[in-house]
Amino acid sequence: MKRKAGPAVSHTMQAALLVAPERFEMCDVPRPACPEGGLLLRVLACAICGSDGRLFLGRKRIKGSQEIDGRTLPGPIIGHEIAGRIIQVGAGVTQYQPDELVAVAPGISCGTCDLCRAGQVLICRNYEALGYRYPGGFAQYLAVPALLVSDGSVNRIPVGTPPWAACLAEPLACVVNAQEAMGIRTGDSVFIAGGGPMGSLHLLLARHRGASFIAVSEPDAARREMAKRLGADVAVDPTSPAWASELVSGNGGRGFSAAIFAVSSIAPVRQLFGYFEAGSYQLLTPGARVNFFAGLDPGDPPLGLDVRALHYQALSLFGSVNSTPRQNADALSLIAAKSIDAAGLVTARLPLAKLGEAMQLATSPAHLKVVIEPE
Ligand SMILES: [Zn+2]
Ligand SMILES: [Zn+2]
Repeated sequence: MKRKAGPAVSHTMQAALLVAPERFEMCDVPRPACPEGGLLLRVLACAICGSDGRLFLGRKRIKGSQEIDGRTLPGPIIGHEIAGRIIQVGAGVTQYQPDELVAVAPGISCGTCDLCRAGQVLICRNYEALGYRYPGGFAQYLAVPALLVSDGSVNRIPVGTPPWAACLAEPLACVVNAQEAMGIRTGDSVFIAGGGPMGSLHLLLARHRGASFIAVSEPDAARREMAKRLGADVAVDPTSPAWASELVSGNGGRGFSAAIFAVSSIAPVRQLFGYFEAGSYQLLTPGARVNFFAGLDPGDPPLGLDVRALHYQALSLFGSVNSTPRQNADALSLIAAKSIDAAGLVTARLPLAKLGEAMQLATSPAHLKVVIEPE
């Protein structure tokens, strides 16, 4: 979608441009005009996602370049977990007012391809997003394209919820999307690989949806403690020889009815599926659902799976990516109602000028969610 020109913009803004792997440059760039049918936001909070970390390290790339009002930026503005204050509403926008605080679902589906028409908007053939094709939230201002206003991607933040908590609606929405797809429900026993921010959100949401037993597998001791504080029944060390026996004994000798991989590595997948004996995957119950939630770096060798076991154990495999506007609205409500204590996962809040430092924190196991608050 092309943005139409709004009112003339003479101002500039501070933005962190990712000019090279591991290098942000704070630059004065044009402040975007308010798009027709869209919004201009002052960014109040933008959380760092694991995928931002992979972009930062050069392990994931943005196709093409970003522009602001027709001018190509020397590097992209990333960041897609965004909360802000409406500064201007575009022509034709009647449902929002200046000064309202909103959280934005960043995914832009075309609405016209075969997959969109079939309701599969998250795997739209022309999928774009803020922080990828469009400038993201690590800047003082952000243009919200008209399509995001019209498809319900802009959600008002309830009074009493700070923007630095509201911006976690997007990652939580992706977790909602995954758990809805795999049907996490009352009585499930859930294995979660990874006690980082996404694994922690999966833990909190699985409990909220009624899972009766939750195990987190995480090599970092502090993160295992955190997982227990957040309600995990067991937190096991995947590097320990007792890993599998602790999982099985903690769960009354049974396997898991659901498994979620929230680590950008294929190693935990190999580990879980490696417990294969007598023709079946020992750590999974018959009928188990498995979700490959985290994005991986390209180049990991493919996984060998025993198709006979997949069949006789009636296993279901899911890949989940992105989140719908409705899931973002639901996630924001869960955060605002404190049904999910997402704010409890925020371990640091830094100004935009410290984005490089914040990235280092976000990629260290001592931190969970790190939020940038542009001044
Ligand atoms: Zn994200
Ligand atoms: Zn589409």
